[in-house]
Amino acid sequence: MQAKERFFYIFFEKNSTNACQFKKKTVPLQHENQKTRTDMHFYKNGNYVVCIEDDGSKTRRCDDAILMPYFPESIDVNITQKCSIGCPYCYSNCTPNGRHADLMSYKFLDTLHKYTEIAFNGNDLDHPQLMEFLYKLQERGIFANMTVSQKQFMDNLDKIHGLAHKRLIYGLGVSFKEYDIDFLREFMKFNNGVLHVINGIINTTDLYLLSGLGLKLLILGYKDVGRGVKYNEDNQDNVYVYKNCLFLLLNRILKQGMFKAVAFDNLAVEQLCVKRFIPVDEWDKFYMGNDGEFTFYIDMVEGTFAKNSMEQDKKYPIGDKTVDEMFDIIRKEL
Ligand code: SF4
Repeated sequence: MQAKERFFYIFFEKNSTNACQFKKKTVPLQHENQKTRTDMHFYKNGNYVVCIEDDGSKTRRCDDAILMPYFPESIDVNITQKCSIGCPYCYSNCTPNGRHADLMSYKFLDTLHKYTEIAFNGNDLDHPQLMEFLYKLQERGIFANMTVSQKQFMDNLDKIHGLAHKRLIYGLGVSFKEYDIDFLREFMKFNNGVLHVINGIINTTDLYLLSGLGLKLLILGYKDVGRGVKYNEDNQDNVYVYKNCLFLLLNRILKQGMFKAVAFDNLAVEQLCVKRFIPVDEWDKFYMGNDGEFTFYIDMVEGTFAKNSMEQDKKYPIGDKTVDEMFDIIRKEL
C-alpha cells in the first residue's frame, strides 16, 4: 500500500482478539517518528506499522503485499477459572471454586512488546494478584483490555472506574446478560466500553432495545466447548432460533447504524457469514487475519498456549518461553 496524505480504513477495534469492526474511518497518515498526537500510538512490527488510537481503533500500514509480524499484536489471556456467575454456556467451564493463575510466576511478562494488547477475563475481580499484574503490564506499556459480565460490572463499579482512571485497563468489555437501564447508564460512562453479545444467546428484542444508544457492540461466535456443548444440546431450539434471527438481522445492524460500531470475533465472522456484506477487495484489505496470524491465546491457569481459546489438541507448555518464542511456534502451525 502506498503512503497517501489521508486514507480510508475500516476501523478495527481490538477489545477482543481479531475483532474486526466494519466502520470506515479517515485516519490522518502518521509515521512512527511523527508522534504529534498523544492519543495515537505507533509501533513497528516486522514489515509494517501499527497505529492504535485511544478509542481502541487500530490500523496497519505496509508497503509490501504481505504483512510479516515479528511478534503478536494482541494476546487473549485467561487469568482465572474462578467465577461466581455460573453461565450455563460458559466455554471456559469457570466455577465459583475455580483456580486463579499464579500470574507473577511467568517470565514471558518481561518479554511483552510495548503496545501489545492483552485481553483478559476479569471475572469476579478478586484475583489476589490482579493489581500487581496490571501495574506490571502498565509498566511495560501494554494495553490491557478486561472483560467482565454485566453483574460483575455492576457489583464492582468503583473498582472498575478506579482501574480505568489509573489507565490500568484500556478497554472494557462487558458481557451482556439482560436489558437494564441502570446498567446502561453506568456502562455508557466508559468511552472504551464494548458490549459483548454471543451468537445463539442474544435475542433480537434485546438488540433492538440496545440500538440507537451509540453503543459499541462485539458479537462473539457461539463456542461449542466447555459448558457450551451441553447448553447447545439442551437448548438446541433456542440457540438455533437466536442464531438465525441474528443472521437475518445482521444486514440491518450493519447498514442502518443501530450501533456506533459493530465488531466480530473470527468465530462470529464464520457463523454469521459476515463476508456476504463486504466487497471482496475490501475484505482482503481490511480483514485482520486468522487466529494465530497476529494473535494467540495464553492460558495462565493451565500454563499452556495455543492458537485460540477453542483449541483443544494443539496446546503447548508455556514454561520459560518468551512471547516471541511462543508466537513463533503458533505461526509455524499456520
Ligand atoms: S461470566 Fe463469563 S467466565 Fe463467568 S461463568 Fe459466565 S461466561 Fe463463564
